[in-house]
Amino acid sequence: MTSPWDMPDFDDHEALHLIRDAKAGLSAIIAIHSTHLGPAGGGTRFWHYLNNAAAITDALRLSRGMSYKNAMAGLAMGGGKAVILSDAAGTKTPELIAAFAKAVDSLGGRYVTAQDVGMSAADMIAISQGTRYVSGLPPKDGGAGGDPGPSTAMGVFLGIKAAVRRALGKEDLAGVHIAIQGVGSVGGGVARHAAAAGARITLADRNGELARKLADDIGAQIVPVDEIMSVESDVFSPCALGAILTESSIAALRTAIVAGGANNQLATQADGDRLQARGILYAPDYVINAGGIINVALEYLGNGDRAAVNAKVLQIPDRLNAVWDGSEASGQNPARVADAMAQRLIGRG
Ligand code: NAD
Repeated sequence: MTSPWDMPDFDDHEALHLIRDAKAGLSAIIAIHSTHLGPAGGGTRFWHYLNNAAAITDALRLSRGMSYKNAMAGLAMGGGKAVILSDAAGTKTPELIAAFAKAVDSLGGRYVTAQDVGMSAADMIAISQGTRYVSGLPPKDGGAGGDPGPSTAMGVFLGIKAAVRRALGKEDLAGVHIAIQGVGSVGGGVARHAAAAGARITLADRNGELARKLADDIGAQIVPVDEIMSVESDVFSPCALGAILTESSIAALRTAIVAGGANNQLATQADGDRLQARGILYAPDYVINAGGIINVALEYLGNGDRAAVNAKVLQIPDRLNAVWDGSEASGQNPARVADAMAQRLIGRG
């Protein structure tokens, strides 16, 4: 197997911890990309990987992503990520969780965990029995924390407004047509905010009942999931899956703006160039969807209540505008500009 140092996703990570507790059935990886701005924050993913190399690659890639996301959100946190290698059956025992908490604790706060795919809010509470380096616990009265979805949705909504102002010269969303892919926690919130602001909404979700109920509530139109990306709209808002912006899907877009909450929307860096070549304004995903991490980070750092979270979420449009300004000045696509800005913020530019 290639050594981690030689893997394509190795990016001068500060540390890569390989954890094994055979008795507890735990195999895990904690990748710390950067602690330049503060403790390395990032969730734990519980996933059945094809092989160990795939798990290491995921930890390397996701932890770097967290460095960029936390830096661009203006947080005093670095970037890290943990993956727990699940068996094919997804066996998750209290012993395994306790052993993982012990491993997190042993790093003395250099890494702070939170919820990610395959982990629940209840798992975070269980982890908190073994370490205080965990976030995403039930919020105390008026404090930051709890479900990050509403903060993410608010940030995406504000980002869409900023993009509409920039690309279409409109000060509000009245009559602006927004096509939303996925109306769960994030997309549903975006749809409600945008509809309340006078936007016309078209939506699609694999969950037909969810889509129907929301559409009835806000007066939106529903289209099949395989049509949402080619709906003629002012804004396409991806709020479901990653890697949906590809050479062929970008060619089929009929919109002026792509701005949504999904993580890792671009299949490759070249797809950012393709959006730019088509004159479509792109809001880099980890900049526009940072509301949730702001909520989680302020809970952990203990220096925030809901008002502090909201104040930081309100800054998301400024960050997007700084990225778009940089893109205009340099001719580079916004995704590349955001990466370069994040690298500078973590002392690597
Ligand atoms: P969710 O599970 O609540 O909602 C996702 C919705 O997308 C579901 O209703 C699902 O049925 C639908 N969906 C799945 N595949 C689809 C498809 N092919 N076409 C249309 N709809 C489809 O998840 P969420 O919390 O709203 O997160 C959505 C995206 O935003 C994810 O990519 C997530 O990683 C990202 N994100 C979420 C947060 C957060 O705070 N929840 C923060 C940052 C990023």
